[in-house]
Amino acid sequence: PAQPPGSTALKMATRKKIAIMTSGGDSPGMNGVVRACVRMAIHMGCDAYCVYEGYEGLVQGGNFIRKMEWHDVRGWLSEGGTLIGTARCMAFYERPGRLVAAKNMILNGIDALIICGGDGSLTGADKFRAEWPSLLDELVSAGELQAEQIEPYKHLNIVGLVGSIDNDLSGTDATIGCYSSLARICYAVDLIEATASSHSRAFVIEVMGRHCGWLALMAGVATGADFIFIPEKPRDDNWREDMCNVVEHHRKMGKRKTIVIIAEGALDRHGNKITPTMVKDLLADKDGLGLDTRITTLGHVQRGGTAVAYDRMLATLQGVEAVKAVLEATPETKTCFIAITENKIVRKPLMEAVQAAKEVAKAIEMQDFDRAMALRDTEFSEQYRSFIMTTAVQLDKEMLLPKEKQMKIGFINVGAPAGGMNAAVRAAVAYCLSRGHEAVAIHNGFAGFARHHGDKPLGAVRPFDWLEVDGWASKGGSEIGTNRELPSESGMETVAGLIELYKFDALFLVGGFEAFHAVAQLRRARDQYPSLCIPITLLPATISNNVPGTEYSLGSDTCLNELVDYCDKIKQSASATRRRVFVIETQGGRSGYVATLGGLGVGASAVYTPEEGLSLEMLAADVRHLKDVFAQDKGQSRAGRLILINEKASKVYNAKLIADILRDEAHGRFESRESIPGHMQQGGVPSAMDRCRAVRLAIKCIQHLEKFGGKTREEIKTDPMSATVIGIKGASVVFSPVKTIEEEETDWPNRRPKAAFWLEMKGIVDILGGRPSYKEPE
Ligand code: ATP
Repeated sequence: PAQPPGSTALKMATRKKIAIMTSGGDSPGMNGVVRACVRMAIHMGCDAYCVYEGYEGLVQGGNFIRKMEWHDVRGWLSEGGTLIGTARCMAFYERPGRLVAAKNMILNGIDALIICGGDGSLTGADKFRAEWPSLLDELVSAGELQAEQIEPYKHLNIVGLVGSIDNDLSGTDATIGCYSSLARICYAVDLIEATASSHSRAFVIEVMGRHCGWLALMAGVATGADFIFIPEKPRDDNWREDMCNVVEHHRKMGKRKTIVIIAEGALDRHGNKITPTMVKDLLADKDGLGLDTRITTLGHVQRGGTAVAYDRMLATLQGVEAVKAVLEATPETKTCFIAITENKIVRKPLMEAVQAAKEVAKAIEMQDFDRAMALRDTEFSEQYRSFIMTTAVQLDKEMLLPKEKQMKIGFINVGAPAGGMNAAVRAAVAYCLSRGHEAVAIHNGFAGFARHHGDKPLGAVRPFDWLEVDGWASKGGSEIGTNRELPSESGMETVAGLIELYKFDALFLVGGFEAFHAVAQLRRARDQYPSLCIPITLLPATISNNVPGTEYSLGSDTCLNELVDYCDKIKQSASATRRRVFVIETQGGRSGYVATLGGLGVGASAVYTPEEGLSLEMLAADVRHLKDVFAQDKGQSRAGRLILINEKASKVYNAKLIADILRDEAHGRFESRESIPGHMQQGGVPSAMDRCRAVRLAIKCIQHLEKFGGKTREEIKTDPMSATVIGIKGASVVFSPVKTIEEEETDWPNRRPKAAFWLEMKGIVDILGGRPSYKEPE
């Protein structure tokens, strides 16, 4: 089998046998977990095993526990479900079942177990770990095993990975699979919306989630649904009137479609079930709204097939982290699971998370809904508030700010279009309307703003129309138009004059590196033009994800999904025809983020980035490596391979040249082609994640601008927080002063942040792709 040459470098003192298992309901990304764990374990000099069919396999033993080789998991990243099977296992609920499982582990010499599953599976794991010493004693006293046999296994080393579509475990922002499921739901709702709008119908859409409303909530946020029902936040007794009021309000404003999303586990305050039929009857009631209403139950399509880019990333990074955790564990280490907080992968105590998940269920059962909500992660309650604030627009008068705090806010998109720009604008407009702010669109960036200047403004500056904006949740591109031009190019004096003319109290920018540059210019020009002494904030949106001050830009997730889809198809073609390497050129400007994360999502053989550059030696090493792997294939598998190269990775080598070199060097042993997805990477419909994050971050931006309501120009000018960029940095969402970011964190010539947080991931792509570690000669 093809083994990564790097594996010999990191031999462990004792060669561990690490087993991986998937359990509970299947979720997209589980195969990515198995691939990452198997390959990382082998890379670290361990033996990798898979336990087939979840705990059932552990109880059955025999052929259910199999040693895995490097090539056994090839291509698994793009497969849906779990290829090693999963099952509900009744026997494991009881001690005798767990006793046999313990014996099977010892007989196979397994010293560590990585379990990917939902809260049930992790509860089982926790119980198993707690009982382990007594299980071993029982095995010896019953004569099943000898005392010497159990000696090396005194301590059970378990690590959990949360694989579940429900996103129901406390302590992690996302579970492996939840964003794939959400993507399928949003896709379905988008389809339904078209027909609902055509016939002016209402649809009640039931989604999964017996105890957890994450899918329903996020689907509501991402699609701009009219109303949602989730278990954690049952509506008040008058939910019927509430819903009818909102729907009627939206209809009066001119909406032709009504979408209500209901989680399977939706309840009222007294614990009574709210069913889709109850909701439908209410919407259709002839004496009430009288809407032509249909119910759609999405069912198992939500289990979701192939994983979205984010789940592949999560599965891979968490799988690698799980193997590291196993190898670093001592008998004193608390059993952990691998979580993600915003953008940071972290280890957390398993027991506490399992306990907290149980508490949510208990709180719902006890009808202590505030507690249930409090036990969910911050993002959950924030998104719930986001949903309410962007749907019950102008219905809740308590949300209105006093007159003197209300602002006139200019919205402007700068740079290339990116998925989620419209969703951000929509959410911010809806929030502004709820608060009494005046939201004004500046069309076509600074270029549009300046060009239409004159005694009679030519319409580049227009107030938003709620009805029009409300349909933008799922729209790609930029509805208000975007342009790369900087204020200096449009004429700073003109721009400052227009801000004065329109009496803007604040500016909200959505865009990429140019937008960041624009904010920096506006801030610096404040001394000269007092009208620029207004709060300005930027929500980064660019597929390149190269805005300083954040690790994530809107649109980068949409781009990665497009790229991963494209690569999956190319890889299939490469495998089906003959032994072929495809060299794919990605966008990303001078940032290798897209190429690297794309490579992580498809399992690339090599990724070339501008940060690392590309030399003749490096290319030669990769050519040798590819020759080796194709030679080792011996024709038993016709797997295609991919190389990703960022458009600016090298001044000399491009996708075509590399493909030509490979073909020439292969001497007929394999084929090679180049392929350029180009602007396809901007994506059509934005991804569910970009849409959800757009809503959450856009509202935070307006809330940040609000803080300056009523402040003087001098106060604003001297406050560094009056010109900011919002970002996800590690485990938190933060506003950073543009002054600091532009002076300390920006690599201006290369138009990217100085520090690339994802560089570590590049190493993981190389390890899991089996690429020999390469070091440029001194
Ligand atoms: P999902 O999120 O899809 O429901 P899950 O992991 O919660 O996934 P469960 O069916 O609850 O799914 O659990 C999977 C398996 O884990 C069970 O079939 C059982 O073998 C084991 N298990 C669950 N709970 C326990 C428990 N309390 N004690 C022992 N084993 C358990």
